[in-house]
Amino acid sequence: MKQFIVIGLGRFGSSVAETLAENDYEVLAIDIDGERIQNIADTVTHAVEADATDEEALKTLGVRNFDVAIISIGDNIHANILCTLILKELNVPYVVVKAPDTLHGKVLTKVGADRVVYPERDMGVRIAHNLISSNVLDYIEFAPDYGVVEIIASSKMVGKSLAELGLRGKFDVNVMAVKRGQDIIIAPGANDKILEEDVLVVMGKNENLDKMKHF
Ligand code: ATP
Repeated sequence: MKQFIVIGLGRFGSSVAETLAENDYEVLAIDIDGERIQNIADTVTHAVEADATDEEALKTLGVRNFDVAIISIGDNIHANILCTLILKELNVPYVVVKAPDTLHGKVLTKVGADRVVYPERDMGVRIAHNLISSNVLDYIEFAPDYGVVEIIASSKMVGKSLAELGLRGKFDVNVMAVKRGQDIIIAPGANDKILEEDVLVVMGKNENLDKMKHF
């Protein structure tokens, strides 16, 4: 089972740490602030007060034995860079860093971050998509200009098979799954019919997804 280090226990870091722990993963939580460590100590496997820019401290904590590290130590780019560099040098295989903006993100990628996340920006985009179209339940960007939407089947879709709907031909989008109540139909086939209240999980270019939303 994967083992995680979560560095920086602001709202983001602590919610990552708590969710991993709730799902029974081993979590080492690190923060320079003793109070934050105390608050999470009962929830995670280990909680340690330490400076994440101190290489010796991280070495002593045995961070090299962990599979994934999530760094969320605020807007201090210097600390973010240093911590990323140290973890990669200590051979932590997968380092995820929370960045305030893409400029910081680019620097973090250059120094070895395996993934940079922008939770505030991404949540803003998701909420906006959700507000623009009443039939869109959720939107996730997975590459610039590409995303996945969860869309409630429109009346035009109900009763038709995917072949009859021809969404791929019309909009160049792909229906990856259909949620039907508690059931999920993964990779639905051309003959699968859409029923009332189905939720389609559709992947494609944003402009094509936008066109499809009005279908
Ligand atoms: P949020 O996730 O709440 O939106 P944030 O990640 O931008 O916010 P903070 O709330 O300031 O920022 O959380 C950053 C956390 O990182 C704080 O708990 C802080 O004590 C911790 N931190 C900052 N620098 C270090 C460091 N060098 N080593 C370890 N922890 C640090």
